[in-house]
Amino acid sequence: MSNLFVWYYLTFIYSFVALNHLMLLLKTINHYKEWYQNLEDKNSIGFVPTMGALHKGHYSLIEKSVNENKVTIVSIFVNPTQFNNPIDLKNYPSCLERDLDFLRSSGTTAIFAPSVSEMYPNGTENLLNIDLLHIDKVMEGKFRPGHFNGVVTVVNNLFEIVKPNNAYFGEKDFQQYMVIKRLCELKFPKINIIPSETIREDDGLAFSSRNALLKNETRIKAKLLFNTLQNAADLFKKMSADELNKWVEKTINSVDGFHFEYFEIFDEQNLLPLSNSTKQARAFIAVYVDGIRLIDNFKFKP
Ligand code: AMP
Repeated sequence: MSNLFVWYYLTFIYSFVALNHLMLLLKTINHYKEWYQNLEDKNSIGFVPTMGALHKGHYSLIEKSVNENKVTIVSIFVNPTQFNNPIDLKNYPSCLERDLDFLRSSGTTAIFAPSVSEMYPNGTENLLNIDLLHIDKVMEGKFRPGHFNGVVTVVNNLFEIVKPNNAYFGEKDFQQYMVIKRLCELKFPKINIIPSETIREDDGLAFSSRNALLKNETRIKAKLLFNTLQNAADLFKKMSADELNKWVEKTINSVDGFHFEYFEIFDEQNLLPLSNSTKQARAFIAVYVDGIRLIDNFKFKP
């Protein structure tokens, strides 16, 4: 009996030390650089950039990175320059301690969680401007002016600091994934950008850090976003683009507290209108649900 107790005790102590020992928290660029210099194998670094308030969607990217790389770095940084609305930034959930707990058994090697002044030592005015072609002229680019300048700036800086071989992005933010691919084409040709499919709650609502801001009754109705996308993909062959857009707008706006922002169908290769060469299409939607802005997209055969 006493041997068993000792065995349990030692196992508990070992796993506690190992879990805490293996996952590093690095808060400054210098600490990251120091750690990176001592890293023996610099050819297998997977990177998952996040803004924290982690959920199962983030976890799926991390799992993929852990499976495909020797080392996985997760960054947690609420990037102020990608918020075009100061209230949205102020309300964005932030919970580092909870996130660290969430990551403890994920296989993450290190978390990079810098402050705003660490990432923007010269202020947030001068952002990176690269030619994103037409990718930032539609949807999020159109409705959130400056959003992708902020995204490109922070991801560019994170890539320069972290120096990953593979970086993981969710299809939940499909347009962002396209923007990052373009950034890499121009500036980081050696980094592989790996997409990961959208993880959804049981009723179809895509996991999002913003879901935590929804009131209970609104949360129940929020599944309408995904249902509408699926129905629109079915109706696509029966209606003109204009009719379909009006149908989506009416369906969304008929729900109390919902406010339609956009609905689009594009060729997923280039975010251009569908053409004869389109193999895969995607429907995209943005809706304010009781003031909380949610986006989603759905892949379908045209
Ligand atoms: P965020 O913290 O919202 O900036 O997201 C960090 C990364 O997680 C981005 O690449 C997102 O596309 C991805 N992500 C967010 N939600 C989901 C989800 N439900 N499924 C898969 N990936 C997601």
